[in-house]
Amino acid sequence: MDNGIKLYVVVPCYNEEAVLPETSKRMLDLFDTMKRDGLICEDSRIVFVDDGSKDKTWSTIDSLAKAYPEIAGIKLARNAGHQNALFGGLMTVKHDCDCAISIDADLQDDINVIPEMVKHYIDGYDVVYGVRNKRDTDTFFKRTTAVGFYKLMQFMGVNIIFNHADYRLMSKRALNALSDFPERNMFLRGMVPLVGYRSTSVYYDRNERFAGESKYPLKKMLSFAFDGITSFSISPIRMISALGAIVCVIAVIMAVYALVEKLMGNTGAGWASLMMSIWFIGGVQLLSVGLIGEYIGKMYKEVKRRPRYIVEAYVNETDSKERSEEVTENV
Ligand code: UDP
Ligand code: MG
Repeated sequence: MDNGIKLYVVVPCYNEEAVLPETSKRMLDLFDTMKRDGLICEDSRIVFVDDGSKDKTWSTIDSLAKAYPEIAGIKLARNAGHQNALFGGLMTVKHDCDCAISIDADLQDDINVIPEMVKHYIDGYDVVYGVRNKRDTDTFFKRTTAVGFYKLMQFMGVNIIFNHADYRLMSKRALNALSDFPERNMFLRGMVPLVGYRSTSVYYDRNERFAGESKYPLKKMLSFAFDGITSFSISPIRMISALGAIVCVIAVIMAVYALVEKLMGNTGAGWASLMMSIWFIGGVQLLSVGLIGEYIGKMYKEVKRRPRYIVEAYVNETDSKERSEEVTENV
């Protein structure tokens, strides 16, 4: 009998002892409602991933898990970072669930759209992105830096969903496809769109963090943004080449200018040759660095070992399906 979807909610937690009791209470209430509505089944779980916290996060998770059968916990041996903790949690649960939702422990993202996400999953969507309508509750600084970040990523040619963070539903097969991305520099919101499959979005208003402090201080935010760009785009390398080309053009203009000045007798000894050399050498060096960069860019794509393709569906299945799956597994 079909008694609802087996949903796992994965929550990365770093020093979140202050929010966990409230978070689990709200999540359990929501689970109860969804079970009553027949949306999710009894075996659905809320999985807290302790990302090497220094406070009482793990003992809190442990006692919650003992008190409520719906709650489970995973403890990482050290602080692996938000993206790794999230990925680790998703990869651990992907065998057990029909679909998994990732959400931050502070519930700044509205959990009331979870039923909507699950309904989209039932309608056949493999990925459902949670998208923030407005960010009034974020500080002015966080808002502007975030918008700047999305714009910059777009400019660099990285396909990410505007105003979507790591609040999303993924089906089992989307999670399996994600596990084919063996890269070490995790930037999930760039990787998930690469998986493909049918996707849609749900919209919500972002709340304030109700307890504890942000675990993303400016330093971590900047390194996260830098990671996102350098893990997905070789545009910065192309910019060096472009700059090299521009400097070469300037070199020609400067050569003409220096020659004219010299012929008109306006220059001291050695000025013209020095002037020409400086611009010319500068341009050649930048172009060379850009050229070497192109090769490094190719290597960077190779070492990521991302899947070349992901199969969406088969019709009239034959043995070739098994063969194709073997190939992906052997990569
Ligand atoms: N987090 C984590 N490991 C870290 C830093 C953060 O697992 O090293 C978790 C944190 O517990 C939270 C989520 O990542 O569940 C997002 O962090 P936070 O809410 O502090 O970020 P913000 O909303 O301020 O961007
Ligand atoms: Mg937060």
